[in-house]
Amino acid sequence: MKKLSVVVPCYNEEKALPYFYNEIKKVEKKLKEYDLEIIFVNDGSKDNTLEVIKDIAKKDKIVRYVSLSRNFGKEAAMYAGFKNATGDYIGVMDADLQDPPELLIDMLKYIKEEGYDSVATRRKTRKGESFFKSIFSKMYYKLIKIITKLDIVDGARNYRVMTRQMLNSVLEMAEYNRYLNGIYAYVGYNTKWLEYDNKERVAGKTKFSFFKCVNYALEAITSFSSFPLRLSAMLGILFCFISFIFIIFIIIKTLVFGDPTSGWPSMVCIIVFVAGIQLFFLGIIGEYLSKTYLETKKRPIYVIKETEKDLKNN
Ligand code: UDP
Ligand code: MG
Repeated sequence: MKKLSVVVPCYNEEKALPYFYNEIKKVEKKLKEYDLEIIFVNDGSKDNTLEVIKDIAKKDKIVRYVSLSRNFGKEAAMYAGFKNATGDYIGVMDADLQDPPELLIDMLKYIKEEGYDSVATRRKTRKGESFFKSIFSKMYYKLIKIITKLDIVDGARNYRVMTRQMLNSVLEMAEYNRYLNGIYAYVGYNTKWLEYDNKERVAGKTKFSFFKCVNYALEAITSFSSFPLRLSAMLGILFCFISFIFIIFIIIKTLVFGDPTSGWPSMVCIIVFVAGIQLFFLGIIGEYLSKTYLETKKRPIYVIKETEKDLKNN
């Protein structure tokens, strides 16, 4: 029998987990032709998430878990889960039931019967999001598609099922700065997209503030494109060209009309403007440099403190 592993990153999900477990067990009953393995990744939760997971794992042998030594972030947590999954098919979903578990059945069907390598999900509408956030993210996805030349899908959720072959490709991209939507797009393969409406989380609170989302969005650009660096070179050339024209203009003007000292305010404006642009691009270069610095250190993406194997030992 083929096995499906479902990876569930959990950070402070003590309230949502019992609901989640309940729902996924219903799906297990319907998935007759597959073995199911659930891998909870406790991402350094500060509440009782780990205890809740352990209680479930003690009673149910299909439940496995890895507990990280601190909060490494959702991307790292998913990677830890992927690394430890043993299934022929691997799914990943949130613990808050915003990703409907019963969809797993259809997702597997598409892979099995229609030969897709992966079935992914995206939100149908941006209902329930602020006007500002929705405009901002629409523009963002247009931009990132153009500059990365990758098919990064607007509104993609993390909920997805893929084959072992595709997962192995994803695991090969063991970079420290991780942006999974970009990584999926990079490895390619045939993906079917399913859509559904945004849902409220079943319990607990969201962990992603607006500021965190913006940060993540900028990370994605620098992880998958060096376009901002090229932009600095292009602007530099443009400025050289403009200044060259200016110099010729001023020489001719001085020769024809003499040299009355004027134009200080405009001079100051130009200096401030150019200095601003220079600092801006110095910042961008710094951003890439720091990324490179972190990658060269080859630090582990996550650190495991305990797994379900420790449970059986005591
Ligand atoms: N999550 C995680 N580590 C983090 C933040 C979040 O493992 O540092 C998990 C969280 O427990 C949940 C999933 O990632 O299962 C999605 O988080 P959340 O529901 O807060 O995000 P939202 O749906 O609001 O975007
Ligand atoms: Mg959520």
